[in-house]
Amino acid sequence: MSGGGSIICDFIAHTVPFYFLLIATRPELFNVTRTPSSDRTMDLGLAEDHFSRPVGSLVASDIEQLKLAIEECKKLILELPEHSERQKDTVVKLIHLRLKLQELKDPEEDEPNLRILLEHRFSKEKSKSVKQTCDKCSTIIWGLIQTWYTCTGCYYRCHSKCMNLITKPCVRSKVSHQSEYELSICPEIGLDRQDYRCAECRSPVSLRGVPSEARQCDYTGQYYCSTCHWNDTAVIPARVIHNWEFEPRKVCRSSMRYLTLMIPRPVLKLKEINPLLFNFVEELVEIRKLRQDILLMKPYFITCKEAMEARLLLQLQDRQHFVENDDMYSLQDLIDISTGRLSCSLTEIHTTFAKHIKLDCERCQAKGFVCELCKEGDILFPFDSHTSVCHDCSAVFHRDCYYDNSTTCPKCTRFTERKQDDIPEEKKA
Ligand SMILES: [Zn+2]
Ligand SMILES: [Zn+2]
Ligand SMILES: [Zn+2]
Ligand SMILES: [Zn+2]
Ligand SMILES: [Zn+2]
Ligand SMILES: [Zn+2]
Repeated sequence: MSGGGSIICDFIAHTVPFYFLLIATRPELFNVTRTPSSDRTMDLGLAEDHFSRPVGSLVASDIEQLKLAIEECKKLILELPEHSERQKDTVVKLIHLRLKLQELKDPEEDEPNLRILLEHRFSKEKSKSVKQTCDKCSTIIWGLIQTWYTCTGCYYRCHSKCMNLITKPCVRSKVSHQSEYELSICPEIGLDRQDYRCAECRSPVSLRGVPSEARQCDYTGQYYCSTCHWNDTAVIPARVIHNWEFEPRKVCRSSMRYLTLMIPRPVLKLKEINPLLFNFVEELVEIRKLRQDILLMKPYFITCKEAMEARLLLQLQDRQHFVENDDMYSLQDLIDISTGRLSCSLTEIHTTFAKHIKLDCERCQAKGFVCELCKEGDILFPFDSHTSVCHDCSAVFHRDCYYDNSTTCPKCTRFTERKQDDIPEEKKA
């Protein structure tokens, strides 16, 4: 307890003025009877004697007294009119008492800023917010006084004191090693094969709630205890892929963290996992066309100084994969397709891009094509809707001309003819 004393001193230094300030400014909150001789302050039986005692004498009885004060405080909260100022202030007081109790029990301060454990990278938190919940013990983290950590990889939060009890490795490593979703819908194996134990911490569970409630995670299909499963909900990738179903389902904490980290990652190759989806979901076809067009526009932008300066491609920075391919989707993409959000934003981007190439920029305009088949009409661009592009040489034609010419490209034909002509000449030489 050598380091403990100074923290308690700090605590007293911070807390005592806080109370006196409150008492001075809002005596009504504390039921203060302002008699000239009185040094009596609060009627909660919890106030000054805890703080005025010499630091060295903080012993077991202080903890007992604090516990009593906390109980009194709780009772008072229940008795006071709901949402009244006094009730709110008593809640604040209760928090402080609990913090103090915690402090007496857990006096460590000199903890490292970074701790690595089961591949988590825990970084010490400075935030005083008291609204966090510990992922290990599921109780509140009192940021004002308790030391706590957040994993920079998976955002697992926990009390410093709970850290050594963690058994679950960081899901960030799972995201990078095994960046594939479970794609069977709720793949249940049954409680018997789980030995009637929580799939994560192995504590006994059952569906009857004895000794504790078994909660199913819709993502893994397995059952968990209420400490490992908080009834969080998430959109389940398997349900989206197979059913085009977006209703959030209940998942365990660990699946929740994994799904949250995975949601922006483009890991779903739809045309391989479920090509039928394109027959049933019109929006997907529209998005695929927009993405293909954007890929055809990309060569213009990476060779155009103006477009680079205007950072046009950055409009897609949240979906970098749209600039790289047209077949990988993130779960977020699919969610945004189902709500219509993606179609809106992508159409807008498509319009901006086309406007730059066809209207605003002379440099890009100059890279249009004249249809080689009819040699007539407007300048064509590969992303125009009435055009066809040769897959071999990227020449652009009117779609009708291309089909009339049985989808053969005159450029490529000339090229192969010339090659054939060249061969005998080479032999002669
Ligand atoms: Zn905890
Ligand atoms: Zn982690
Ligand atoms: Zn558990
Ligand atoms: Zn340009
Ligand atoms: Zn033509
Ligand atoms: Zn060609």
